[in-house]
Amino acid sequence: MKKILPLFGFMFGLFTLPTWSQPNPSKLKIFISVDMEGIGGVVHGDQTSASGGEYNRARKLMVEEVNAAIAGALEAGATEILVNDSHGSMRNILLEDLRPPAQLLSNFFKPMGMMQGLDQTFNAVFFIGYHAKAGSAVGVLAHTGSSTIVDLKINGVSVGEGGMNIFAAGALGVPVVLVTGDQETVAQTRQLINNVEGVIVKEAIGTNAAKFMQPEEARKLIRDGARDALRRLKEFKPYRLASPYKFEITFSTTAHADIAEQIPTVTRQDAKTISYTTSDYLSGYRLLRVLYRYLRAD
Ligand SMILES: [Zn+2]
Repeated sequence: MKKILPLFGFMFGLFTLPTWSQPNPSKLKIFISVDMEGIGGVVHGDQTSASGGEYNRARKLMVEEVNAAIAGALEAGATEILVNDSHGSMRNILLEDLRPPAQLLSNFFKPMGMMQGLDQTFNAVFFIGYHAKAGSAVGVLAHTGSSTIVDLKINGVSVGEGGMNIFAAGALGVPVVLVTGDQETVAQTRQLINNVEGVIVKEAIGTNAAKFMQPEEARKLIRDGARDALRRLKEFKPYRLASPYKFEITFSTTAHADIAEQIPTVTRQDAKTISYTTSDYLSGYRLLRVLYRYLRAD
């Protein structure tokens, strides 16, 4: 047996290799990326910053919206659910508060940031608690990545976190089927992918105020949206952006562009704007993450 097993294992590996990274038809794997600014009840930095007085309340609201999405996914037959905590410290969700059987990806450094953990074996992506892009006139706590980015363009299209993550999911062949947040977040997502289940949990008034519904109502909408999206999963297609991929970042200061320009492959466009081009979307995404999250000009 000892001699046969390795040989058999080798043959098994050979035969299964070509389909190894495809979704398994008997499984329904869901990836949930959860941010905080788009959660119902959240409207101020005092709630989204770990040092803020209302942070513990906000993280509770956050996990309950994730739990609602998990409940909807389970109703639709989900067999595996991975939740990637995608806000700030990425350590907002307490494992013991997360609805089983979901698994949790927590803390950083994660090279793929908000999309860490996603691969070709997943069937669908949910965005929970997402927000509008930097520069939006309306959209609760609108920004892209961090306060250092004024605008992000990918292949000439101005996008926020939703857009850059939709393209990342598309590069892996997985469709984004559900987005939750304020009305502007859902509208901006639909500008890119018209066919997406959108759940509006609050009405943004400018970028700093919002009208809320009761949390239970928001959770019911999310649960229903998650279930309905998965029940019509065949209707969704991954957003595959054509190669090559040009990333253009306009920073809030010229000093950020001065520093970013030192990276080989990065080109200065103007005082505050740099660009770079990759043939592989995900490597461009990883550099983007480093530039918005870890580049400091002070
Ligand atoms: Zn965000």
